Amino acid sequence: MLLPIVIYGHPVLRKVSEDIPADFPDLEKFLKDMFQTMDEADGVGLAAPQVGKSIRVFVVDGSAFAEMDPDCAGFRRAFINAHIVERDGEEVSRNEGCLSVPGIHEDVKRKNRIRMVYEDEKGERKEEVFEGIKAWIIQHEYDHLEGIVFTDHLSSLKKRLLRNKLNNISMGKFRATYKVVLPK
Ligand SMILES: [Zn+2]
Repeated sequence: MLLPIVIYGHPVLRKVSEDIPADFPDLEKFLKDMFQTMDEADGVGLAAPQVGKSIRVFVVDGSAFAEMDPDCAGFRRAFINAHIVERDGEEVSRNEGCLSVPGIHEDVKRKNRIRMVYEDEKGERKEEVFEGIKAWIIQHEYDHLEGIVFTDHLSSLKKRLLRNKLNNISMGKFRATYKVVLPK
């Protein structure tokens, strides 16, 4: 089932998400819907707050970057109760976009390596280090769990320049090929 995607300005994108219990109802179905919604919208990731749920769940698919980074081939995963415990390595600037902020693409600097604890789709607790593009994709989605949107990372000048565009997006003035939920 395709889930509508929440658009910039909606308060759910500003909430800090909560861990979910092991017996969270219909998690399997929710993850299936998340993957389907991400694929249909051509996204490389989708976090639960983007479909209106303040829970620490996100899905990623880095396959599109396999040519740039062979490590990304088959990097299609769900992360549950994710917590980044360490960020290091150099800062790398990459051009980002977000399904919740349609039409805006800006360079964002992020650490090139992270260590994260999480549960996989089977509920197994894991600790793993991610680098390069994988770390980049994860940090963008992880930000959504913390109530952060990628434009928050821009300089105040850049933010000022984008203010009108962001207001227009909040009011529904954009084109998207997927179903959306606008802020009230
Ligand atoms: Zn996003």
